[in-house]
Amino acid sequence: MFCDVSLPVPLDQAYTYALPGSLYHRAKPGARVVVPFGTRKLTGVVLAIHNKAPNRQARLVEKLIDEEPIFDAALLRLAHWVAAYYCAPLGEVLRSMAPTSAETSRSKVYTLTDSGRDMVRQSLFGDEDPSPQTRLLRLLEVRPLSAGYLKTKVDDAANYLKALEQKGLVIVEEDVSAKDPMRAPAEQLRVAFARRADGLKLPKNERELLAHLELHPGEHPLAPLEESVKEASRAARALARRGLANLRIAPLSTPADIRPPHELNSWQKGAFDKIRDQITAGSFGAFLLQGVTGSGKTEVYLSAIEHTLQCGRSALLLVPEIALTPAVAGQFLHRFGDRVAILHSAFSDNERTEQWRRIRTGQARVVVGTRSGVFAPIVNLGLIIVDEEHDNSYKQQEAPRYNGRDVAVIRARELNACVVLGSATPALETRYNVERGKYSLLELPERVQGRPMPVVELIDMREEFLQTRQMATFSRRLLEALDERLAANEQTMLLLNRRGFSSFVNCRSCGERVQCPNCAVTLTFHRRDRRLLCHYCNYAERVPDRCKKCDSEYLHFIGTGAEKVEDELHKALPKARIARMDRDTITTKRHFETILHGFRDGNFDILVGTQMIAKGHDIPNVTLVGIVSADIGLGMPDFRAAERTFQLLTQASGRAGRGTVPGRVILQTSNPEHYAVRLASQQDYAQFFEKEILFRRSMRYPPFSALANILVRDEIQEEALRKSTELERLLRPEPKEMRVMGPAPAPVPRLKNEFRYQLLLKSSDRKKLNETLHAIRRFAAGQKWVATALVIDVDPVSLL
Ligand code: ADP
Ligand code: ZN
Ligand code: ZN
Repeated sequence: MFCDVSLPVPLDQAYTYALPGSLYHRAKPGARVVVPFGTRKLTGVVLAIHNKAPNRQARLVEKLIDEEPIFDAALLRLAHWVAAYYCAPLGEVLRSMAPTSAETSRSKVYTLTDSGRDMVRQSLFGDEDPSPQTRLLRLLEVRPLSAGYLKTKVDDAANYLKALEQKGLVIVEEDVSAKDPMRAPAEQLRVAFARRADGLKLPKNERELLAHLELHPGEHPLAPLEESVKEASRAARALARRGLANLRIAPLSTPADIRPPHELNSWQKGAFDKIRDQITAGSFGAFLLQGVTGSGKTEVYLSAIEHTLQCGRSALLLVPEIALTPAVAGQFLHRFGDRVAILHSAFSDNERTEQWRRIRTGQARVVVGTRSGVFAPIVNLGLIIVDEEHDNSYKQQEAPRYNGRDVAVIRARELNACVVLGSATPALETRYNVERGKYSLLELPERVQGRPMPVVELIDMREEFLQTRQMATFSRRLLEALDERLAANEQTMLLLNRRGFSSFVNCRSCGERVQCPNCAVTLTFHRRDRRLLCHYCNYAERVPDRCKKCDSEYLHFIGTGAEKVEDELHKALPKARIARMDRDTITTKRHFETILHGFRDGNFDILVGTQMIAKGHDIPNVTLVGIVSADIGLGMPDFRAAERTFQLLTQASGRAGRGTVPGRVILQTSNPEHYAVRLASQQDYAQFFEKEILFRRSMRYPPFSALANILVRDEIQEEALRKSTELERLLRPEPKEMRVMGPAPAPVPRLKNEFRYQLLLKSSDRKKLNETLHAIRRFAAGQKWVATALVIDVDPVSLL
C-alpha cells in the first residue's frame, strides 16, 4: 500500500511513500504523517491511499500522527481551492490550516521505568553538575511529564528523551486524557485555596494569588483573576504543582451565568428574520450586514447563532485579530456557555490544541476565532459570520496569503451554509457584490435605543496655519475641547495615525499632495536621492520647491515625529494622565488589554494611539475623539488610500458617545474637501461608495480588475533587479486583458538586508491572471530560485 503526501516544501506536488503494514488500515486521507525527506523528517498530510507503486523505490512512512484525520474531505477541498486561488503550495496551505505543529510533542507523556528509578537513586549521590539526561530523570521522578513541559526545562530534551527511551529508562505514551487540569485552558479552570506556604519562598505573583485565595474562600474561575493578579493562570498552575492550591476543570460557565438576550429592535429584527429564513432553508446565502457604529450588530449575530444551534448545526464567528478581547469572548461565553470554543493566536499551543479537539469532536458548536479560525474543523457548519469584514487583519501577510473573509464565503458555499459579513464601513468589493446581486444587503441605519450619532467637526489645518503662522500639531479648537473633557472628567481618544516608513509631500497652504500622473497614487519621497517616486509604475520626479497648484513655498513632509506629538501633548496639558498605544509601545496582547482596561476603568484621561484604538472598543465614558491628522492615510502610496482613510475616520468617530452622553469628534485635516474626509465626517457611506467606485472603475482597480503583486527579493540589488526584469520579460507581450506595471522598487525597497522589487499585475480576467501567476511560479522553480526570492500576493490589501 502507498500514500500520497503533501509536504510543506516549495515544490508543489504530492510525494508517494510506502505504508508499513501496521498502518495499512489506520492511515486515512486528511491525517498527518511523519516522513523522511532528503536528510530531514517532515510532517505532511495524506491526500490519498492507493496501491500504484511509483517508479522509484518509495521510502516508508515513519509515523502516523492522527488516528482520526484532522481534515475531512470538505476541508481538503478547501485547501486545494486556497492553494490554487492564492497560488501557494498545497503543503504550505495545509500546514497553516493545522492547529499547531507542537501538538505532536505535547501529546507525549514520559514516565520512569523501574530501571529509570534505580538510575535516579544512584545519581543522587555526589553529582554537582548533573547531565541533561540525569536532570530529566530527576524531573520525572516526581511525576509523569509531557514532552512539551520537559522541553522548557532541559535544552534539546527531545533528543535526550529518545536516548533514555532506547536505554529503557523511560517509557513514552500518547496522552489521551485531555482532562489534566494542569493543561486545560484557563477559561475552563477553577482554583481554590489548599494550604499556606509555610515559609516556602514564592515568586511575587504566586504569593499574591495565594493570599487572594486565602482571603476569598471557595472556588474561583481562573480567567477573571487575571485582572487582580498578574499572570494569575500561570501562578495558579504553579501553586497547584506545589500542592498549595486546587485546580479543577469546570464547565465554561454554569447555566445560571447565561445572559438573556436583548430584545431586538425593529431594524435588528428585520435583519435577523432574513438570516433566520436562510439558515432554516439550509442552502447557501451571503449577506452584508451593514450597520452604523453602535447599531447592535453583535446582538444580531448572537440571535443568528442561537437559531443555527436550534437547527442542529454549528456556527463560526470570525473577528479581527485585535478585537478578540476577553470582553468580546465573554459575550459569547455568557450566551452559549460551554458550547463555545475560542481560537486565538495568542493562546498557547496547549490551549489551542484543546479548543481544536473540542471543535473536532463536536463538543464545541460555537467557534469564535481570528483569521485562521476559518479552517476550524467544525462539525456540520451552518453559519459563518465575519465581523468587521473590511478589516485588513483578515488577510494573512505571509504565505499562504489568503483572505479569511473570502475563504469564509467559499467555505460557506461548499457547505450550503449561510455567511454574514458585518461592518459599518464595508470593503468596496463587498458592497459592490451587493450591487451585483451576489450578496443581500441588511441594514441597521440607527444606533440602538435612539442614541445619537457623534457630531463631527472638521478643522481646516490650512486655515489654522494662515491664522497662527505656526506648524502646530494641535489646533486651538482641539486643545480647548481636550481641556473641557478634563474639567468634566470625561475621556478622550486621540488618533495619531502615524505610519512613518516613508513620507510624502503636502502643501501647508492648499493641502495639495503630489500624485503619479499614471496611477493616481501619492508619490513617495525618497530622502537619499531627493526624488518623488511612484511605487506602482516607477515614475519619478524631482521634489518641487513650490506647490504646483498654489505656488506656496510651505511644502511639508508628512509621516514622521510621533514622539514629538506626544511631547507636545504633555506640554499643552501637563495635568492630563496620558496613555499611549501603538505598535512601538504595545508588544503583547496582554499589554494591550492592560492599557485598555486601565482606560476603561478611568485611570487615564487621554488614550493616544494609532489605528489599533479605532477598532470596535465600546467605552462609554469616551465623549471626545480627536483625529490629529486625517490626511496621513491619504498619502499612502496605495490605491486603497481613500477607502482606508474613510474606514478609519468613520470607525474612530464611532468610538465617541457610546454611552448616554452624546459624542463629539474633532477631525484635523489639510484636505477638508477630499471626499474621504468630508464623507467620513458626515458618516455617509453611500456617497463615499459612489465616488470611490467611480475612481476604481476609471482606473480599472478592484473590484473592476483582479490584482496581484509580485515581489522579488534578493540580498544583491542587481540580482533582485535582474530577476524582476526576467519576470517582466516573461509577461511580454502584455496580454490584452492584462496590464503589467513595474518592476519598480517596492515601497519598502530594502528590508532585512534584502532588496525588493515589485511587479503589479492588473487583469480583467481572473482566470488568465491565475494561469499567469502559476506560470511565474513554475518559471522560478525551473530557474532554481530560492523559495524566499518570489512572493506572490493575490488580491493584496496593502502594497506596502
Ligand atoms: P456595533 O457592533 O454595531 O457597533 P454593538 O453590537 O457593540 O454595536 O452594540 C452596541 C451596544 O448596544 C452594546 O452595548 C449592546 O449590548 C447594546 N445593544 C445591542 N442591541 C440592543 C438592543 N436591542 N437594546 C438595547 N441595547 C442593545
Ligand atoms: Zn499648495
Ligand atoms: Zn505610477
